[in-house]
Amino acid sequence: MEQEVLKRIVAALKCSQCSASFAPEKVSFLGSKEDVWYFMVDCSGCGNREMVAALVQHAAEPQQCTDLTESEAGRLVHAVKSDDLIDMHRYLKDFSGDFKSLFTGM
Ligand SMILES: [Zn+2]
Repeated sequence: MEQEVLKRIVAALKCSQCSASFAPEKVSFLGSKEDVWYFMVDCSGCGNREMVAALVQHAAEPQQCTDLTESEAGRLVHAVKSDDLIDMHRYLKDFSGDFKSLFTGM
């Protein structure tokens, strides 16, 4: 599963504050842990910032992934959104990258 495909899938979600669609270039990939990929999205409509955790279910035969169209790939991704905060916090606690300073202001 490529980052760019996932970004477009995340961008297809709507802002929980103003229901605007996200722009793919406003989607930032934070990191992945096992099958969960984490993204940060900035709403260009209202400035809302959301974290999205996407559970990516791998196909049984990975080489067939390239045959998936984007919409087919979308069915394999379940956007968890902010509901999965515990896992996200657990993940971010272990994350030693630059994002820590990003979140301290929240
Ligand atoms: Zn918004």
